[in-house]
Amino acid sequence: MPKFNVAARVRRAHQKKKGLALFLKKLSRKKPKNLQKMLKQADQAAWQEVACLECANCCKTMTPTFTRPEVKRIAERVGMTFDQYFDKYLTVDEDNGDIVNKKQPCQHLGRDNKCRVYDIRPGDCSGFPHHVRRDFYHQVSEKLYINNSPRCPATLSFLENLERVVAENA
Ligand code: SF4
Ligand code: SF4
Repeated sequence: MPKFNVAARVRRAHQKKKGLALFLKKLSRKKPKNLQKMLKQADQAAWQEVACLECANCCKTMTPTFTRPEVKRIAERVGMTFDQYFDKYLTVDEDNGDIVNKKQPCQHLGRDNKCRVYDIRPGDCSGFPHHVRRDFYHQVSEKLYINNSPRCPATLSFLENLERVVAENA
């Protein structure tokens, strides 16, 4: 896979934001029947272009949402009690009650861009960037993809590839 420049992709995502938002709006109106198949194709194509270990932008700039069982198992892994881990690293989002990290980058991100609790990372991390979803149109209306595209190079690639795949299937 060719090296890719995260900063250049962030700039490109900002430049293309309006155009991609318009594309998603039109797609939501049209609602093609084979949407899930096209999402999978665009997602697979995105992962041919992006290497997470050269990026880690999500772990550096965003926070996952933790469930309480996830907090418990990660705390155990790092030799802390639930309360010790919570007090040191976590907080509750006042807007929605989500359990989130206090700070970025995430406490488990290594200098090599690897997650130190990878095998037991929160489901929100393992599912990120949430491209192929049954509630795709709802997420479009919530601006998930557009908001994530300047942070996640894979989401930018996903949207660019989705635009191409949809045009090919028109
Ligand atoms: S999921 Fe996106 S933001 Fe996170 S490391 Fe991969 S490409 Fe980067
Ligand atoms: S738990 Fe791991 S994958 Fe999740 S944000 Fe932290 S470093 Fe990244």
